[in-house]
Amino acid sequence: MLRTFRYRLKPTRHQAKVLGEWLAVSCELYNAALEERRGAWKVAGKSIGLYDQFKSLTEIRAFSSDVASIPVDIAREPLRRVDRAFQAFFRRVKAGQKPGYPRFRSRDRYNSLAFSLAKASEEAITVPKLGCVRFKAHRKLRGRVKSASLVRSPTGKTWSVSLVSDLGQAPEKQPVSSAVGIDVGLSIFASLSDGQQIENPRWLKQSEEELAAKQRILAPKRKGSNNRRQARRNVARCYEKIRNRRNNFCHHVSKWLVATYDLIAFEALSIQGMTKDGNFSKSIIDAAWGILLRQISYKAEEAGRYAVAVDPRGTSQLCSGCGEAVPKSLWERTHRCPRCELVLDRDHNAARNILALGRSAAGLIEPRKG
Ligand SMILES: [Zn+2]
Repeated sequence: MLRTFRYRLKPTRHQAKVLGEWLAVSCELYNAALEERRGAWKVAGKSIGLYDQFKSLTEIRAFSSDVASIPVDIAREPLRRVDRAFQAFFRRVKAGQKPGYPRFRSRDRYNSLAFSLAKASEEAITVPKLGCVRFKAHRKLRGRVKSASLVRSPTGKTWSVSLVSDLGQAPEKQPVSSAVGIDVGLSIFASLSDGQQIENPRWLKQSEEELAAKQRILAPKRKGSNNRRQARRNVARCYEKIRNRRNNFCHHVSKWLVATYDLIAFEALSIQGMTKDGNFSKSIIDAAWGILLRQISYKAEEAGRYAVAVDPRGTSQLCSGCGEAVPKSLWERTHRCPRCELVLDRDHNAARNILALGRSAAGLIEPRKG
C-alpha cells in the first residue's frame, strides 16, 4: 500500500540555491535528451532508448562539472521523463491519435527533482550531495519511504517534498454497518445518499474575487517589465493559496467520510471528460472532486473500509426507490417517480443509486432487478 506524503520543505538558503542550480541543469539535460532523440529520429529514423541516454550521461559527467555536481540519481530523472514522454507519444500514435511531439521545457516550467530515497526521518530527508533537508511535518510520516521528489512552487519561492511511502499490507476490510453514496455536483459540492449535503466551500467565492482582482492588475502591465513580473508572481501566489485551501478542504471532507462510513460509493469520474472552459469555480471544483475521491480511496484502504467507484451512467435517471427509468433533463432538480411516487432532490436520488451500485460492486448485496 503506497502513499504519498507531501510537506513544505525548509531548505537553508544555501540548500535552496543548490536545488535551484540542480533544477537548471536538469532542465538542460531534459532538453538535450529530447533534442538527441528528435535528431536521431529525424536524421536516421533511429530511436534512442533510455539506457543509451544513461550511457551518454555518464560520458557527459566526465567532462561537465555542472552535471557531475548533481547526484546521479537526480541527473537521470530528466532522461526518464523524456523516455516517458516518448512512450506516451508513441502509444498515442499507435492508437491512431495525433499527439503533439514532446516539447522542450523552459526553465521556469521545469520545477521538480526526483530520486529514490535511502533515508528519511520524521522531519528531514537526506538528499545525496546536499545532506539533511528539513521539512514541516504537519502530518506524521509513516511507513518505509521509497522515493522523493522536491518541487519548487510556481512562484519560485517555496519548495515542497513528496515522499512515496510503503505502508505495508492493507488491513482486512471491516464488516459494513454504515454505507453512503456520494453524488458530486456544481451547485452543491456533494449530495449524500442519507440526505446530507456538503456545500461548496465559502473560500471558493472569496478566492474567485481575489484572483480576479490580481488578474485585473496584471492585465495592463507592459510585457517584460518588472511590474508585470511582480504582478504575475502575485497571481501565481494566489493560485497557490487556492490550491492549499482546496487540499485542506478535501482532507477535511475525506477524513470525516472515512471516519463515519464503512462503505463509500462514488461515481468514477473521467478527468479527461472534464472541460477546461475557463470557468474558475467549475475548474476548481472539478479538480477538487478528483482530489477528494483519491483521498477517500487511500484513506479507506488504510482504514480497512470500502471505497467503490461506480459507473455514473444512468444514476440520475433511475428511481432509487423502485428502479423505474425516470428520464429528466439537466435542469430538472427534483426526481418524481410515477411508479412508486418517490419524490426526492435529484442529486439525493442519484446518490442513493450510486450507493446501491457500490454495494453490489463490493459484493455485499445482489444487484437490484428492474
Ligand atoms: Zn420509483
